[in-house]
Amino acid sequence: MSAEKNSQQSAIELTQHDMTDGNIGLHYEENLLWEKERADHPGVDLPEPQNLALRTGGKPRGDIGLPQVSEPQALRHFVRMSTWNYSIDHGFFPLGSCTMKHNPRLNEKLARLPGFAHIHPMQDESTVQGALAVMHDLQHWLAELTNLPGVCLSPAAGAHGELAGMMTIRRAHEQKGENKKRRIVLTPDSAHGTNPATATTCGYEVRNMPTKENGMLTVAAFKEALYKTDPDGADIAAMMVTNPNTCGLFEKDMVEIADLLHEAGAYFYCDGANFNALVGKVRPGDFGVDVMHINLHKTFSTPHGGGGPGSGPICCTEELAKYMPVPTVIKQGDVYKLETEGDRPETLGRLKGYHGQFGMHVRALSYMLSHGADGLQRVSEDAVLNANYILASLKDDYHAPFAHQGPCMHEALLTDKIQKENGVTTLDIAKALVEHGFHPMTVYFPIHIAGTMLIEPTETESKDSIDRFITVMKDIANGAKAGKADEFHSYPQSTPRKRLDEVKAARQPVLRWR
Ligand SMILES: *Cc1c(COP(=O)(O)O)cnc(C)c1O
Repeated sequence: MSAEKNSQQSAIELTQHDMTDGNIGLHYEENLLWEKERADHPGVDLPEPQNLALRTGGKPRGDIGLPQVSEPQALRHFVRMSTWNYSIDHGFFPLGSCTMKHNPRLNEKLARLPGFAHIHPMQDESTVQGALAVMHDLQHWLAELTNLPGVCLSPAAGAHGELAGMMTIRRAHEQKGENKKRRIVLTPDSAHGTNPATATTCGYEVRNMPTKENGMLTVAAFKEALYKTDPDGADIAAMMVTNPNTCGLFEKDMVEIADLLHEAGAYFYCDGANFNALVGKVRPGDFGVDVMHINLHKTFSTPHGGGGPGSGPICCTEELAKYMPVPTVIKQGDVYKLETEGDRPETLGRLKGYHGQFGMHVRALSYMLSHGADGLQRVSEDAVLNANYILASLKDDYHAPFAHQGPCMHEALLTDKIQKENGVTTLDIAKALVEHGFHPMTVYFPIHIAGTMLIEPTETESKDSIDRFITVMKDIANGAKAGKADEFHSYPQSTPRKRLDEVKAARQPVLRWR
């Protein structure tokens, strides 16, 4: 479909957007393989086996109901469906909070080296010294970048790292005999949902700290929460804070807050998912963090989701390092070794089978070493620059609640406040983006501000692709200003599935094919 034809049917006048480099909707419709099969078209045409004893322990071989389709049919089916799975390798993926950055192929190449790819976790340690050395080096560089010396690589995702970190804190309180009286974990209202969820999973009560006014945690709001039910804060176990926070702002009062928190005997958990904005610039250990997790699949470019498992190492102070999960890799003389509970009796124990996501450790170390210290610093600077370019370009078209306070970090926060006056909401804007060839940004998160759109370009997008996105966002804003709300409600038009009834889909999901 040409850009010209598209604009005739559309509420949005496309200006410079060149469709040759985008896409309109999804191109292939595809039904189920069972719907394709025909009784007279067998999938495989093999002769019945003759004179072969069954080896199924007496059970007769029966039809297991696989669809009978030819090899090309099966191949096309799966290839077509694979094109439905939008990924960072298709195009711009501006999901705020998710850091969807390019996964360098060099990392993949190194992870596929036979010495890394073809080993087994139950192999004798003497035969995998190189692999253990990779883990040891990664621990070292993570400790260096965070200024937190205790590193455990085993957690399998960010949320799993949070669990590991908060269990480490709980273990420390248990060892001091204070776990019974320290029942409360403080989180700002801007916290990622996994923070209160983790605290609750660990048996704590969550106390909220309001940040709405300027998007940041203030010393006043913190003090009020800290001393609310005990004048010394002696019922507080920990504070969980994301820095930069989920509004894309750097929390400036952390040192003062951390000092007060430590004075009260509580620990500072930092959700490190946004570390991409800080690497090489700020070490969280320097602003008072006791333990944090790192999302290797965000900050250190290992694949997300379907592309590969996540990995959420934790880094902690020397004090807390005694308690974190086993195993870490230790070096005794020239020999690398996975520690056991015997090596560190105060550990909270094991949280994950074997070594953690070893393939991700290789990729992350490869990323670090190929960038070097100056390269990693540049990554953070460019990620922040790109987000600020978007914020500055769109802040007159969309409501940008914190833009007047100055620059953002690695993600730009907008809301639908202006468009809503014309009946166009954040959901409509996201669907309009799909219609015009862009994966939407994160919508309605953070949740404490109405109609949010959180945009994270990362350092790996070119100025060209960011400019195209900005142009389409401006076109969408102009379409909304022109009052074409009804058309907005019908987006996306070009996809095989149009606008869904999201409430019905959530309340009455159809999960089975009949
Ligand atoms: C992504 C993210 C998490 C959770 O990480 P997962 O790897 O998805 O479990 C936690 N906190 C913040 C702020 C995040 O962005």
